[in-house]
Amino acid sequence: MDTRPWRHLYNTRRWHRLRAAQLRDEPLCRFCRDLGRVTPAKVADHITPHKGGEALFFDADNLQSLCKTCHDSAKQRQEKTGSLPGCDLDGLPLDPDHPWRA
Ligand SMILES: [Zn+2]
Repeated sequence: MDTRPWRHLYNTRRWHRLRAAQLRDEPLCRFCRDLGRVTPAKVADHITPHKGGEALFFDADNLQSLCKTCHDSAKQRQEKTGSLPGCDLDGLPLDPDHPWRA
């Protein structure tokens, strides 16, 4: 049961439009793409956690397309640990905030 207080934001017409536009503009999972995989995206994910803030929630630039697997695994871990696991094909960390990226 999802009890997050901002859950109602996901029921707005504005979010549904934004989500549809994101998945249309970026139809493939971004994390999978970084790993050289081609996977259809199913989730419009907030890059910076919005924590209920409508400015971040409705910011199209704060969205990325992910497949469900990536969203449920990597992303959850990122939100817990503050960094992304794994690296891309060049051996660089996937996490854009990783010190190696600086
Ligand atoms: Zn994926």
